Amino acid sequence: MRYSANLLPSRCSSTCLAVAWLLLALATTHVSTLQATAADSEGTRTLLAQAQPAVPSPTPQPSLLILPINHAKFLAGTRFDFRVEANHLPAKPTAWEVTVAGQTPEAFFGTQGQVTNTSDHSQEQTFRDVTIAEPGAYKVSVKVVAGEATLTSMVEYEVVLAKPLARQAKNVLLFIGDGMSLPFRTAARIVSRGMQEGKYRSMLEMDDMDHYAVVTTSGMESIATDSANSASAYATGHKSVVNAMGVYPDNTKDPNDDPRVETMVELVKRTRHMAVGLVTTTEIQDATPAAMFAHTRRRSEYLAIMDQYLNPAQSADVIMGGGSASLLPQSTAGSRRKDNRDLFKEFETKGYEVVTTRTELRATSAPDKLLGLFHLGNMNVYLDKAVFKKADVLKQFTDQPMLWEMTEKALDILGKHADGFFLMVEGGLIDKQAHPLDGPRAVWDTIELDKAVGIAKKWAMTHGDNTLIIVVADHAHSMSITGTYWEGDGKKGREAVRVYGEAKFPDYHDADGDGFPEKVDVSRSLAIHWANHPDYYENYKVLEEPLSPTVKEGEKWVANKQRAEDGELQTGNLPASENNEVHTVEDVPLTASGPGAEQFHKAMDNTEVFFAIVNALGLDARQGTSPFVATR
Ligand SMILES: [Zn+2]
Repeated sequence: MRYSANLLPSRCSSTCLAVAWLLLALATTHVSTLQATAADSEGTRTLLAQAQPAVPSPTPQPSLLILPINHAKFLAGTRFDFRVEANHLPAKPTAWEVTVAGQTPEAFFGTQGQVTNTSDHSQEQTFRDVTIAEPGAYKVSVKVVAGEATLTSMVEYEVVLAKPLARQAKNVLLFIGDGMSLPFRTAARIVSRGMQEGKYRSMLEMDDMDHYAVVTTSGMESIATDSANSASAYATGHKSVVNAMGVYPDNTKDPNDDPRVETMVELVKRTRHMAVGLVTTTEIQDATPAAMFAHTRRRSEYLAIMDQYLNPAQSADVIMGGGSASLLPQSTAGSRRKDNRDLFKEFETKGYEVVTTRTELRATSAPDKLLGLFHLGNMNVYLDKAVFKKADVLKQFTDQPMLWEMTEKALDILGKHADGFFLMVEGGLIDKQAHPLDGPRAVWDTIELDKAVGIAKKWAMTHGDNTLIIVVADHAHSMSITGTYWEGDGKKGREAVRVYGEAKFPDYHDADGDGFPEKVDVSRSLAIHWANHPDYYENYKVLEEPLSPTVKEGEKWVANKQRAEDGELQTGNLPASENNEVHTVEDVPLTASGPGAEQFHKAMDNTEVFFAIVNALGLDARQGTSPFVATR
């Protein structure tokens, strides 16, 4: 069955983003590319914010940019694009000297570069699809003379081989809880497992793993990141900027021509012929799954990302989640496409079995390739698909699988491959419910992800114990657990928030042992607060359907009274242009089990997660032909 609905989910990100991008481009053409493109970081960002007139910036000084950036670390043999940009030049360059390890880039990389002029005041030189095969330290020096200006810059690269480990992994399973910072794990454990005299009855599946680390999340331009940039660090080992994946940001408008770095999916396919699975609860084009294989400066390029899904060098054998809007021909209601291509048909032609409901997913055996798309947009969260089941929330999508069911099917399929697999499973709606300050929806989705982790651990133990399992977040959210909320003595609102010894224990109870408490709206619930938020109303109750914390009133975002009629106003502490809670900068937890898991300890840079996976697999990137299209 194919969905032909006429309703996109209310929080459709990409359409909004596309419009926002246009407005932004019109409003701030004189702001630098980095600042300008940061505005479509999340579906939750606002048109209002992006339409604000920009403050005139001072005349930019001439500058050089070398991409990849200083201190970039490469696995020897990985493919990348090398680019030098001279921007804001007072005149055409009369000297342009680039050396890599003392040689011309043509000699060093063994290929011809291309010189371009993005603007009248810039010059660029780009070498596509190059590599450094020998480990070591490499210096890149650039000198450009243009009119009165002499610009020099030097960067250094580190090139490494995979480190041999005591035990090598055959398969890697990367679980990403989007935005799943520590409080989500604690809240999920309290709700799912419960306590007796302060001791948990048991730990979560993601707690009960052999190694624990914390991971930093910042990108190359800002301490605060988004899910494209942060997932890209895991998938490439390189830092980038908000909204970007698999690329460094260049000075052109085209979001799909930026200098690329090879992704994990490309790497394991070309060097090992490993199978690949990407499973999420968001649209499959959303930042986290897309960053595993795609190259774009702008995460909202859903249609370009779909084209990359179909490129053999980047394609996954198992793809599951939401997002059929980007596959249906434009003639079909609900489509986001601008043409009549039917990507479902194109996937079928490539040998994929297509399923669109939980029933169909259960009925399928284990085809070699599976495309499971269960929603036009993002899938619904656990509380909506399994507990409240409201018709106006689920619409026609009343038969969606749980994340652990998708994970189990993915393992059935990928586990057949002799060369091993890389599987990324994302609990993507944890983040998308944290933004609108919906603690319960985010926490119950954390439990849903945890059940998928449990399935994976069991699978790994019964299939040779040679699978590295990693559970990590990509960035933090500002949720915190203050204590409990209890109205039993007649108090309400903030007076009913119970702290310290008065908090006692909430009364969630999981009698049937499925990991979820039977009752959601208990008499003593978790009291959840958020460190950053817009103006919004809070009554500490579980919303029976997702509701935005803010509504637009004229040109302003104001608190949405409908969200909590009896609630108290929480005065916002973010710029009034923000209509949702935003990501926070703290480190995030990582747990891991299996061969190679011992590498995860201490505080780690997020790019090191990539290298730990590479080491666990013993990948040699000098094997296999380049996944990149030769030139662009
Ligand atoms: Zn987010």
